Amino acid sequence: MDKKTILVVEDEIVVAMDLQATLIDLGHEVPEIVISGEAAIQKALELRPDLVLMDIHLSADLDGIDAAAAITQVLDIPVVYLTAYADEKTLQRASLTAPFGYILKPFEVRELRANIEIAFYKHSLEKTIKEHRQWLLAVLNSISEGVAASDPTGLIKFMNPVAEALSGWSQAEAVGRSPAEVFHFMDEMTRRLIDNPLLKSLHEDQTVYLPENALLLSKQGHEIPVSDSAAPIYSDRGQLEGAVMVVRDSTEQRRIEAQLQHNALHDALTQLPNRGLFLDRLQQAIDRSRRSPGFSFAVMVLDLDRFKSINDTLGHLLGDQLLVEVAPRLKTHLRAVDTVARFGGDEFAVLLEDISDVAVACRAAERILGEIKQPFTIENHELLITASIGIVMNSIPYEQATDLLRHADIAMYRAKKRGRGDYELFDTAMHSQARDLMQREHALRQAIAYNQLTVHYQPIVALATHEITSLEALVRWQKPDGELIYPDQFIALAEEMGIVTTIDQWVLRQACQQLRAWQRMGLGAWVLVGGQLTRQPDSTSLPPALSINVNLSTYHFGQKNLVETFADVLQETDIDGHHLKLEITESVFIENAKEAAAMLADLKQLNVQICLDDFGTGYSSLSYLHQFPIDIVKIDRSFVQGMDTDTEKLEIVRAILNLCHTLGMAVTAEGIETPQQRDILLDLGCEYGQGYLFARAIDSATITQDLQR
Ligand code: C2E
Ligand code: CA
Ligand code: CA
Repeated sequence: MDKKTILVVEDEIVVAMDLQATLIDLGHEVPEIVISGEAAIQKALELRPDLVLMDIHLSADLDGIDAAAAITQVLDIPVVYLTAYADEKTLQRASLTAPFGYILKPFEVRELRANIEIAFYKHSLEKTIKEHRQWLLAVLNSISEGVAASDPTGLIKFMNPVAEALSGWSQAEAVGRSPAEVFHFMDEMTRRLIDNPLLKSLHEDQTVYLPENALLLSKQGHEIPVSDSAAPIYSDRGQLEGAVMVVRDSTEQRRIEAQLQHNALHDALTQLPNRGLFLDRLQQAIDRSRRSPGFSFAVMVLDLDRFKSINDTLGHLLGDQLLVEVAPRLKTHLRAVDTVARFGGDEFAVLLEDISDVAVACRAAERILGEIKQPFTIENHELLITASIGIVMNSIPYEQATDLLRHADIAMYRAKKRGRGDYELFDTAMHSQARDLMQREHALRQAIAYNQLTVHYQPIVALATHEITSLEALVRWQKPDGELIYPDQFIALAEEMGIVTTIDQWVLRQACQQLRAWQRMGLGAWVLVGGQLTRQPDSTSLPPALSINVNLSTYHFGQKNLVETFADVLQETDIDGHHLKLEITESVFIENAKEAAAMLADLKQLNVQICLDDFGTGYSSLSYLHQFPIDIVKIDRSFVQGMDTDTEKLEIVRAILNLCHTLGMAVTAEGIETPQQRDILLDLGCEYGQGYLFARAIDSATITQDLQR
């Protein structure tokens, strides 16, 4: 043991001297011997010894117990008592001062030594424990969450300051009480008390959490949104020691969540519910009307007339302000139960719930229209606007909110068409039209999803030799029952639905793959004899390269990466651009001539050829010819077919041929059905022909068979 400084307090001087000598013998330092309690206190403060050996019975006023108590109150020094005898009472008093040992007089050296060693050991152990405890306490007290712990019987043993602040109970008040008494948790929605998690975790012997919307009711009656978890505590040896609970104040978190939720469901500009929230409420109304047939409601869709021109002339900021001002006007004549929403742009919607009949909805629409007609004053501008409204009632049993909205839209467009500033009711005629359309759209989507589209190929021949130069890919819809639907029946619909480019690109890929397959089979020169593909007998000469024609809807020209898509398809299918002809119609130039010209130029970079389809129908067509990079013009079959009887048509065909040839373009005549038509065209110098005279569009399997024969 290291050398320690020991203060000896003993009024029998002989004993004191003996002690001093022995202790020095044991390797300690004994700088002082004092004989009174007062002197002991003073020397202890002065010397700060490592241990005090204290005689209990001192002759002066203060006895050893009082002196020890005074010393240990201010100094962390272990005291060991010396005593010759002691009655029960004295010993009890002594034990209150938490001494580190007793040595009986007369002492024995071995006993003295053991007692002192134990005292030092106990003292250092106690010090470590105390430090450790203080450290843990500091940690618990600095946690920003409330922490409360119970003993194994479920009584509160500890609470940190945050737990005190949240609950409104001080630790001193709470210790020894049941957590259920101190922490009242409540469900914010149901306002029901929730089982105390601390007790629950103790009883169930597992970690428990509070529900998400829990409130803590403080002692002062405050309701604090909290999140919380509690878990049992185990000793090293696995014994249940109690439970600990962590409570976090989630006021701010819930405020942010609520704000986010609000933002997700509301339009930022007008603070009205947005489309999502509206659809949700609408769906609830639909569900309710199905449960209780007496419940009826109406949906209005409202669109400001000529809002775009206001936006364009006065700027977006004023346009936005106008929208902000419109919102409260929509609400003026509505009840609290009704929902007014903004869908974006200048489109608003209203849900009128629980209305007796359609007249109520019409009157509401009239009032809203009247309200909108009142002048708006926005930054010194007086604005007069009108709106159009479409109304739909739930008299038709709807299942989907979106269907209802679509119908309201249809009615709204009717109102716009008829003259603005008015409303229109969606009626049964519109309904059956809309239903038909919906069914057809659904069927077409199914057709695409279930791979019911297929491509047929119609040969295009060189008129002079009947050699097939190209095959036009024409899409068909093959129903499961075998019925074949022609593109006239569904391409326009696909255009309206915005899926025509998907179809076209599918056809393109299909056709390229098919052409590659035919190329691999080794194509010779083919002729058509009586509608039959026949290999030319003397086909030793190099066969002309067969190409495919693919129709492109005008809608492609609104697409950004059209050229990339096409380049990808060519590359994936390993087809040279020279073997692809793209058929477009003049309408491409009408919509956006500049952009179309640029896109065509890009497409031509892929070495593909451009055909102008259905030429002669529609526009003042001739002027386009020299403005765009067109390789081949296809004369529409309406001219070809009238040509032999109608001289005017004949002259048009002649003029087209002359012009095209002057401009260096080749010509294909469509819809040739008779040998006479073919002969006239041949006479006029037309290069290519297509029509039932040569062949109809044929499926690829049949063509393959013919080629192999
Ligand atoms: P189109 O491009 O003018 O195609 C020629 C149409 O005329 C084809 O009808 C063809 O079968 C038909 N036809 C060919 N020879 C004769 C003939 O001698 N007499 C008569 N009366 N008709 C003949 P189909 O296949 O019904 O195609 C109709 C239209 O559908 C096509 O007219 C084309 O505009 C469009 N179409 C076809 N496939 C596609 C496609 O994949 N994408 C796009 N966007 N449109 C396509
Ligand atoms: Ca075509
Ligand atoms: Ca055509």
